[in-house]
Amino acid sequence: DYKGPLADEVFQKRKKFLGPSLFHYYQKPINIVEGKMQYLFDENGKRYLDAIAGIVTVSCGHCHPEVLNAIVEQSKILQHATTIYLHHAIADFAEALASKMPGNLKVVYFVNSGSEANELAMLMARLYSGNLGMISLRNSYHGGSSGTLGLTALNTWKYSIPEGEIHHAINPDPYRGVFGSDVNSYAQDVQDHIDFGTSGKVAGFIAETIQGAGGAVELAPGYLKLVYDIVRKAGGVCIADEVQTGFGRTGSHYWGFETQGVLPDIVTMAKGIGNGLPLGAVVTTPEIANVLAHKIQFNTFGGNPVCSAGGLAVLKVIDKEKRQAHCADVGSHLIERLKALQQKHDIIGNVRGRGLMVGIEFVTDKKEKTPAKAETAVLFEKMRELGVLVGKGGLHGSVFRIKPPMCFTKDDADFLVDALDYSILKL
Ligand code: PMP
Repeated sequence: DYKGPLADEVFQKRKKFLGPSLFHYYQKPINIVEGKMQYLFDENGKRYLDAIAGIVTVSCGHCHPEVLNAIVEQSKILQHATTIYLHHAIADFAEALASKMPGNLKVVYFVNSGSEANELAMLMARLYSGNLGMISLRNSYHGGSSGTLGLTALNTWKYSIPEGEIHHAINPDPYRGVFGSDVNSYAQDVQDHIDFGTSGKVAGFIAETIQGAGGAVELAPGYLKLVYDIVRKAGGVCIADEVQTGFGRTGSHYWGFETQGVLPDIVTMAKGIGNGLPLGAVVTTPEIANVLAHKIQFNTFGGNPVCSAGGLAVLKVIDKEKRQAHCADVGSHLIERLKALQQKHDIIGNVRGRGLMVGIEFVTDKKEKTPAKAETAVLFEKMRELGVLVGKGGLHGSVFRIKPPMCFTKDDADFLVDALDYSILKL
């Protein structure tokens, strides 16, 4: 019973009044008009299983009642006043978030997006270390603002602009990486960047534990431990970008960095922290936070009452509904079924991931690992026809990114795998 504007009209208006950089996934763009938990609905009432969650953002589920209620109730009382005044919501949310962090990571900054979080983290790293150089990994995405675009290392997103001193080290990709899973060689590459490309000192290192936009590429086990040591010896701080991997999504751990057994100096978050609210955060130690005490560090909307109330509700729902354990359970079922499907179809070159952060890489030649770019695009459309929305990723767009709302069930996983099986048979 949707009565609003239809896809063609929306598309024309969007083309006319919004920037040309906006992209849409499908040949015929879908007009999404409603969302409920792991489902989205288009203008005709067609239901889609959402396996990408607004790019890993809808953590608890679309319009989750408890999160929604927190937002609505706070909106009725006070939407905004800024941190010039006291308000309990930002303090309560910061306390709850800090309680989720290990070690001395206890000082919270709220911002509005992942790019902003990483900008702030980079500023802290540079001020704290007194150095300029940052190291990030190839195949990473850390944001689209002018500073974070330098950290991002995927040409899909890059523009040629002054980036400051940024070095892109080889990402330890067990499937495609030149050194396989040999973390010592990848770590040596970081050391080489420091030795040959810097004064010997760096400001910091930033990495996602599972590279999201890069196609759900999990860093080879043991890598971060080696690199954190190298970076700290060169005077730098270590930043974990948890924009996609945080909040229990990996199943085995609440934070992605914990899967590598490391303790970062700064952690950045966004997306899933707000279940769709524009919200991001940076958490660091009191010692590092102190470098920002010399000037005012201000963010108009960061931690406003509505986002804080919603964010706090998200943390509570994830705990109450035991979503981390659920991600582990459903994720391992999904990965197991996808690995079985891989035995059946040569086009599936690699199945990888952890919890509900999964990648399926398609290849035209299993040995050569030739990216099946065109075939992936066809599969993508077929999945949509069957009512399953997945994400696309990787440098060649040959990876399905499966990162659904965390309420995704085993039945949903089965439906997705069956739809993929059918789509491949129809290729
Ligand atoms: N870091 C990671 C790992 C991301 O995936 C993204 C967004 N795709 C960002 C940072 C930037 O977040 P935002 O789009 O909210 O600025």
